[in-house]
Amino acid sequence: MGDYHLHLWEHRDTPDDPMPSGFPLERFEAYVDQAAARGVTELGFTEHLYRFVESEPVLGEFWRDERSDLAEITEAFVRADRIFRLEDYVAGVVAAKEAGLPVKLGLEIDFFPETIDRVLDLIEPYPWDFLVGAVHWVGGWAIDGPRAGEEILRRGVRRAWEQYFELETDLARSGTVDVLAHVDVCKKAGIRPEEEPFDLYREVVKAAAESGTAVEVSSQGLRNPADEVYPAPAFLAEFHTAGVPITLASDAHVPEQAAWGHDEVVAAARAAGYETRLAFDARVGSEVPL
Ligand SMILES: [Zn+2]
Ligand SMILES: [Zn+2]
Repeated sequence: MGDYHLHLWEHRDTPDDPMPSGFPLERFEAYVDQAAARGVTELGFTEHLYRFVESEPVLGEFWRDERSDLAEITEAFVRADRIFRLEDYVAGVVAAKEAGLPVKLGLEIDFFPETIDRVLDLIEPYPWDFLVGAVHWVGGWAIDGPRAGEEILRRGVRRAWEQYFELETDLARSGTVDVLAHVDVCKKAGIRPEEEPFDLYREVVKAAAESGTAVEVSSQGLRNPADEVYPAPAFLAEFHTAGVPITLASDAHVPEQAAWGHDEVVAAARAAGYETRLAFDARVGSEVPL
């Protein structure tokens, strides 16, 4: 079994938060051991692109046109959390692989239509096994940040979801990543439209099916107020009907979370009709039984 969405360190919300100590082999071993205890023996690491200093000139000040209160939060967070070097991360995963650990080299790309082409140029030299893509910011607003619920209510729930899904659909259509990460993360704060937005779901599903992009089934939603796997059951069923393959994901940020909720994501996948998930090597996916 696999977990294809793992981060190596928790976020730093402020410059006072502890500084992670890089990408040593022991850190990977801790994830491998914890995942194995949950029956998972294939680990795909997907550190956040924006956390690498090399992403700064490429992503730019993407918050600059946002309303100032939201822009200030995003700027402070990105500046505190952008602490790694891409070269070091890649070298760490490659070394873990060479040491015989069952790990894959992935990356979680932040999607902005204006900069995605430059992002692809930046990461082109490295030997990726897979790329996941995510919408964390709508403009300069962090859709999954601590003030997300407040802002969703201010904009109107349906309108806020439309803004998020428009970007998610663009990402799916772009075909630039292998897997869509936490595809309905807009529900993270536990606030949803009165009517389940099947029209928004179907746009993403259609775009993913046409571009050949997979979707992850993630336990992260079970650890926050959404209290539900990503994607929602009806959304995942639509992906299955359209023939879109899946990966399994925990979105761990510490070793203790590796493969967390694994049984729940497998159950959600089966309930939607899936019998296989994807494994990746060198950006080529292959179906393996759940
Ligand atoms: Zn994410
Ligand atoms: Zn993540």
